[in-house]
Amino acid sequence: MSDCLFCKIAAKEIPAEIVLETDRALAFRDVNPQAPTHVLVIPKEHHADAAALAGADDGLADDVLKAAHAVAVQEGVAEAGYRVVFNTGPAAGQTVFHVHAHVVGGRDLGWPPG
Ligand code: 5GP
Ligand code: ZN
Repeated sequence: MSDCLFCKIAAKEIPAEIVLETDRALAFRDVNPQAPTHVLVIPKEHHADAAALAGADDGLADDVLKAAHAVAVQEGVAEAGYRVVFNTGPAAGQTVFHVHAHVVGGRDLGWPPG
């Protein structure tokens, strides 16, 4: 998608602080972090949201989840605990419509979320 922000980050056309890259996934720091660790994990291939990713049906969702966990380990938050969030749709606060997992950790996280 030529006008998609995260496609442009995946294509390295827009800079981002990349923390992990695999064949099919990319992880980079959120520009407006909500916790000491706040990394976004995307499939390089464009899918609008988690529902579309779930429908990809080729193991891509599996790759994204595995990359999210690898980021948590790499960031040193896996043992204490962390959160993986897919805001899906406007009512959930999704603002960028290229699916992304937020990997959030490094502080105590309240529940329920806002
Ligand atoms: P959403 O609200 O869609 O779940 O999350 C979008 C996230 O993307 C937000 O947390 C926002 O801070 C982040 N974001 C928006 N634009 C950019 C950008 O250009 N670079 C990076 N690294 N993060 C961005
Ligand atoms: Zn995209």
